[in-house]
Order: sequence, then C-alpha cells, then structure tokens
Amino acid sequence: PFNPEEGKREISSIQYEDIGGLERELQLVREMIELPLRHPELFEKLGIKPPKGVLFYGPPGTGKTLIAKAVANEVDAHFSTLSGPEIMSKFYGDSEKALRDKFHDAEENAPSIIFIDEIDAIAPKREDVQGEVERRIVAQLLALMDGLAGRGQVVVIAATNLPNSIDPALRRGGRFDREIEIGIPDKKGRLEIFQVHTRGVPLAKDVDIAALAETTFGFVGADIALLVKEAAMNAIRKIIPLIDINKQIPAEVIEQLRITKNDFDTA
Ligand code: ATP
Repeated sequence: PFNPEEGKREISSIQYEDIGGLERELQLVREMIELPLRHPELFEKLGIKPPKGVLFYGPPGTGKTLIAKAVANEVDAHFSTLSGPEIMSKFYGDSEKALRDKFHDAEENAPSIIFIDEIDAIAPKREDVQGEVERRIVAQLLALMDGLAGRGQVVVIAATNLPNSIDPALRRGGRFDREIEIGIPDKKGRLEIFQVHTRGVPLAKDVDIAALAETTFGFVGADIALLVKEAAMNAIRKIIPLIDINKQIPAEVIEQLRITKNDFDTA
C-alpha cells in the first residue's frame, strides 16, 4: 500500500547541550554509535564490528530517550521510535510486520537509529510466562537484528527500567551486546539539569539553582523539568490579578516577569 511517510527522514532536534549531567554515559554512547557511523574505516581496519544494538537501562525520566535523540541528531541520522507496549497493543496481530517495516524504513533512510522504549514489554524472559505472541515478536526482532549489515549504519537502541527482565537471547553478541546504565543524577547532575531547564528562563536574583540542586535529592531529569515548569506557572499565576485578561498584556509586565525563589518553594 501507498505510504506517504515512506522515504521521509525524521531528524530529532535534541542536542547534547540539552542534556544535563550524564557526561560519562554520553561519552560511551558517542564512542559506540557516533564514532562507527562517522569513521567506519577505523573499525574495518582493526576488524571489529560496531554494535548493532545498545541497551540503556535505568529508572524512568533519567534521559534515555533524550540521549538517543541527541546522538541521532548529532550524526544526522533518521530517528525512528517504537515502544514495547505499543508493539504489543496497537499492532496486535501484526506486530511482526510493524517491526519489519520499521527496520526496512531505517535501512532505506540510513544512517538511522531505531529507539525501542520499554523493550521489556515485548521481550520478557522466557521463564516469565512468555506467550506465543511475545515469542514470535522476540524471534522477529532477533532475526531483524541478525540481518542488519553490522556496519553501524543502523543502530537499535532499546531502553528499559528492568534490565534483568528481558529475554537473555536479546543480549547475546551481535544483538544488544552493549549496555549503558542511565542512573539517578547526583547533586552535580541535578545542578546541570537545572541549568539546562532554566536556560533562557528569566530568574529573579533570589533564585539559587545550586541550593535547589542540593535539596532535590532523588529527583530525576523529568522531575526537575516538571519543577521548573510548575514554578513558571506560579510566576504566571501571580501576575494574573494584576492584568486584564481580555486585553493585551503591557510590554513592561512581560519584561518584568521572573520566576522567584518563592515560585520554586510552592511548586
Ligand atoms: P522513560 O523510561 O520514562 O522513557 P527516559 O529515561 O527515556 O524515561 P526522557 O524521556 O529522556 O526519560 O526524559 C523525560 C524528560 O525529562 C525529558 O524530555 C527532559 O525534559 C527531562 N530530562 C530527563 N533527563 C534529563 C537530563 N539528563 N537532562 C535534561 N533533561 C532531562
């Protein structure tokens, strides 16, 4: 059937500078994915095969999707996403074809990165009552990965919060044989994430990002992004009583709009 999407390359707009912390992780990803894409000759010369699959694991909201998008953008790769639960539900009955189509599309548009979020949903360990459907989908995925040329032009990144619950067959050589843990950020990481999310955002002088990083123990990137968003909403709420909502807001009100320390405290 006619597919208007065919041949359309999707390029992400996320850049490395949009990621806070995770320097070491990003360095590893670049080495595994960017280097072979840009300089396959290095790998050919030494006879090593770049990875076809990389597994990102760690808690939700820590930047797994962000890193995948950033590396794709950096190498100008077509970025294609799939999610485990989506494969299981939306394409129910036709999941294998959906997978084949994605891989075909990625090869046509190479260099490409295929990102499979929550892979544990399609590829649970065999002993974890894997049904017939899951078995067929995993088999299809394995066959598709085995079929990739392995020159690093199509790389599959899979993400999971539960690295130990995915089918070990997926982690064998030539498949998802590299793993990178994307963990909960420490204080320095949180500070860098705050810096990313407040870049270009007007902050009052009393806002101390370092102090916020100090007191947000356990927050992941997604939590910090949300906190900044809510503080911004608080700042907006405070000016509502001062303006006539039916009229254009005076330029000086916009000009003076800032997020204050108190907006963060109540966020
Ligand atoms: P999930 O397992 O839920 O898919 P994830 O690890 O893929 O989570 P992302 O989708 O990358 O998480 O992050 C969600 C949002 O949180 C991002 O769009 C971004 O706004 C923010 N975020 C997460 N981690 C970071 C980070 N390290 N630096 C900056 N922003 C981050």
